[in-house]
Amino acid sequence: MKKLFSSPFFKTLFIIQLFFLLIFFFQYNSSNALAQDISENKLLLASPYSNSNDSFISLYSANIPKNKIAYLTFDDGPSNNTEKILKILDDYNIKATFFVTGTSAKRGLKIYKAIVNKGHSIGNHTYSHNYSKIYKSIEDFISDFKKLENYLNNSLGVSTNIVRLPGGSNNTISHKYGGNNIMVSISKYLIDNGYTYFDWNVDSTDACVKTQDKNKIVNSILSNSKNKNAIIILMHDGPLKTTTVEALPEIISGLKKQGFEFRPLSSEEYVTQFLRAK
Ligand SMILES: [Zn+2]
Repeated sequence: MKKLFSSPFFKTLFIIQLFFLLIFFFQYNSSNALAQDISENKLLLASPYSNSNDSFISLYSANIPKNKIAYLTFDDGPSNNTEKILKILDDYNIKATFFVTGTSAKRGLKIYKAIVNKGHSIGNHTYSHNYSKIYKSIEDFISDFKKLENYLNNSLGVSTNIVRLPGGSNNTISHKYGGNNIMVSISKYLIDNGYTYFDWNVDSTDACVKTQDKNKIVNSILSNSKNKNAIIILMHDGPLKTTTVEALPEIISGLKKQGFEFRPLSSEEYVTQFLRAK
């Protein structure tokens, strides 16, 4: 018997068994590590805004109109593109919404005035639009936000209660500067103080790259507007957004063909918010 176990056959069998045991051991450990990676990744990837949370609603809409209404919105101006857009809107006799940032330049002031005098809505998109500044804390947000509000008030005599938050109300870049609850705090502040902030349900994609292809802008808007009744379209009128200007006539005629009317935003109009504090 002893001889049998010490035979080369059993020695080989023992080595093979040991080999499989080792493989099993490493696989078990690495599969554990993999599971850990996945769960850690999930924690990293999953926005806290996608989890159920008592402090906010994930998607909120109100004042849904009966007719098909399109709200053209332009963020980040004033710039020379704003002037071109204003001209096109005049040609079509359409009113839109401009969520402006702060500038004390004379030309900027002239553009703010033109927006208001032509009957468009003007909204607060913060003075600096600098994420590391505005999303650092609720106090920093209020100070930058109020800076633009006071500036528009003093220079134009206009007070606006409509707002678009840079990056949208559920942006997570802000977490890097002000922690995971900064947007909930900002939302609460705006609601409690009588402001209405607007996100969007149609993205022109003109912010995906520095200057987006004109046809991509037109196609993205016209295809995403189909089967919707109220649309808030996100566009930009910063200095690089020349193709947004070029796309605008096709966007307007395409939306008209789909049966849309155009209106400027106000707190009484359709509102959609990605995140709303309860
Ligand atoms: Zn912006």
